[in-house]
Amino acid sequence: MVEKIMKINCYHCNSEYIVKYGFDSINGKQLYKCNNCGKYSRDNPQYKKYSDNFKELVIGCYMEGMSLRGIERKFKVCRQTVSG
Ligand SMILES: [Zn+2]
Repeated sequence: MVEKIMKINCYHCNSEYIVKYGFDSINGKQLYKCNNCGKYSRDNPQYKKYSDNFKELVIGCYMEGMSLRGIERKFKVCRQTVSG
């Protein structure tokens, strides 16, 4: 069985010479080490505050006529999240 190789590049130098290097002790994400520049990269570096599913749910409520204020109370989100 061939290990699935994720196509990721170094976030620092964009090199493809990157190897798995254990897991982040804080959030458990896969860490990678770049063999080119020697720096570390992390899976999915963009911090995503809300999942797409959650956003869809919130936007769905908005489309059905719920007020932004109501959505804020129901989901405890700020309106920038909803409109952005
Ligand atoms: Zn690099």
